[in-house]
Amino acid sequence: MSRFLKKSLSSLEQYVPGEQPQDKKYIKLNTNESPYPPSPAAAAAIGTEQLESLRLYCDPRCGSLKQAIADELGVKCENVFVSNGSDEALSFFFMGFCSEDRGVAFPDISYGFYKVFAELYGIKYEQIPLREDFSLNAGDYEAIGKNVVIANPNAPTGLALGLGEIEKIAASNPSFAVLIDEAYVDFGAESAVSLTKKYPNLIVTRTFSKSRSLAGARLGFAIANEDIISDFEKIKYSTNPYNINSLTQKIGTAAIKDRDYFEKTRSEIIKTRTFTQERLRELGFTVLDSKANFVFAKSDEISGESYYHALKQRGILVRHFCGERISDFNRITIGSPADMERLCEITKQILGKE
Ligand SMILES: *Cc1c(COP(=O)(O)O)cnc(C)c1O
Repeated sequence: MSRFLKKSLSSLEQYVPGEQPQDKKYIKLNTNESPYPPSPAAAAAIGTEQLESLRLYCDPRCGSLKQAIADELGVKCENVFVSNGSDEALSFFFMGFCSEDRGVAFPDISYGFYKVFAELYGIKYEQIPLREDFSLNAGDYEAIGKNVVIANPNAPTGLALGLGEIEKIAASNPSFAVLIDEAYVDFGAESAVSLTKKYPNLIVTRTFSKSRSLAGARLGFAIANEDIISDFEKIKYSTNPYNINSLTQKIGTAAIKDRDYFEKTRSEIIKTRTFTQERLRELGFTVLDSKANFVFAKSDEISGESYYHALKQRGILVRHFCGERISDFNRITIGSPADMERLCEITKQILGKE
């Protein structure tokens, strides 16, 4: 740290992304990327012409992309904000809607970035404990009198709330903003997008990183009432008007229109998840009931940390978190069927169950 960094940032604990090793080839099951390539339509959308157009600034309104997202979700363009990964929309939410006076609540076990954003922007935050079984008690958030951020399905647990519970949270906090982070919703949870028409305080964020195989393109979006969306636009035009590069706009537009490919790949992943859960349970693991493209699992026969290291040594990367209640677990991304076969075989070896 230099002596020039401002004081309020000197003690900030930065977000630590999952490893992206460049040295050797792993079976990568640590950052919830898709095992499948992006839609072929996305690749076909980029040619010499698009590369040459990089000399120009991109469309700051992201018109075609917004229209395609709006069409797919059954909302209007005025209800769509597109962001550089959904992380950017989350950042803007914390920056623009939360403050020292207007605090925010989120679960104690959830996406690690929420706490980082709250600290970065000097926001008062409350972390509400999940139940013993890691489920979220929606009642804890009813009429809570502050902003709310909930990942649904939650990460790293994979557990999902029902739409009725989300509706109660939004309805009981009409003077506060409720953000539902739906990074994983396509893998089996109910989306709250339709509720944004009824509740002007409800914001839903989504990403192309997981279910649309475009993590490296950095594309996410938020759906909400048009007033909230114009607030998001104001923050974007005050920080980075060209937040979505022109190639990503093209790729994203083509990807979201390719509904068949999306349906095919996500249903493959859901099938592989079921198979992985069954196999790990046969090997004695406790596996939470995931609605996401990962499973959260622990074994009584090996510590979470030892299992993580044993897998890594054998060429498989998963995500281990050191948090108090979750250090026995690992979060394992659902890869291809072959990846998951290999994971189960190696796990058998590690546990001496061959
Ligand atoms: C992956 C993830 C995101 C953000 O991903 P982007 O790549 O920035 O779109 C947001 N929330 C949760 C819970 C995630 O797991």
